[in-house]
Amino acid sequence: MPIAGSGPSSQCALARRSLLIGLGAAALWRPASAQAPLPIFDAHLHYSHDAWERLPPKDAVALLRQAGLRGALVSSSSDDGTQKLFAEAPDLVLPSLRPYRTRAEIGTWLHDPTVVAHLESRLAAHRYVAIGEYHVFGADAELPVMRRVVELARQHGLFLHSHSDADAVERQFGQDPRARIVWAHAGFDTPERVREMLRRHPNLWADLAYRSDHGAGGRVAPGWREAFLEFPDRFLVGTDTFTPERWHYVVEHARWSREWLADLPPAVAERIAWKNGEALFGAMHRALLTSATR
Ligand SMILES: [Zn+2]
Repeated sequence: MPIAGSGPSSQCALARRSLLIGLGAAALWRPASAQAPLPIFDAHLHYSHDAWERLPPKDAVALLRQAGLRGALVSSSSDDGTQKLFAEAPDLVLPSLRPYRTRAEIGTWLHDPTVVAHLESRLAAHRYVAIGEYHVFGADAELPVMRRVVELARQHGLFLHSHSDADAVERQFGQDPRARIVWAHAGFDTPERVREMLRRHPNLWADLAYRSDHGAGGRVAPGWREAFLEFPDRFLVGTDTFTPERWHYVVEHARWSREWLADLPPAVAERIAWKNGEALFGAMHRALLTSATR
């Protein structure tokens, strides 16, 4: 049955009106992809010799920018890689001093006293926000080289980036209770154990690099959710580019991080995504830039 006022012209007006409403709604509601993506502070990057041979600094920085990174904590074997990347993008790259002159030193550095002189000469020549990432487990954290690293971090006011089990983290705090430690990969430990450690040590933070159990399938896993909600200001994300191939994963890692972070309250997601990185290292990074340009 025809409805009053439903002639062709009024139908046209209705269609126009709904189109306008539709446009108005579209202007208010933007799909997630059209919004500025959540910035990411990537707390675990390496730009080691084989990476810079294959991926020149300009191209590496282009990937970091493409990933939408706000900051990138970079350490390399050797440190020359970090310096190359920092020179290319001082606004983005936060240098961390890795003790390894070659990747092969991962297994020997703790027993090599020449590492100490190497660290001291780099600290005299360049500015950093951290020493690390280095690998140390259990009682090896009591070895003289490791003890000296903890001392150097204290003297220079730097963070430690430690790939360790909980025991080696405890031992480093035993040497300097005021040390500030970023626990690489959250020790590959369980969320329950990570929470215990964070409760015990107010100067401990944890990066979630090279693990996926916390956000598999874009959902925050139970256990991790409790950890993130209890300590929203103590977690960071990171890619861990320990081989050159993984540089091409930096963009995907940022995308995936945004996906699982969206399963958390926005304020918590922002902290883990980038605000914690900014809170920890932002002032040091700015000071470092000022001194570099003086
Ligand atoms: Zn690493």
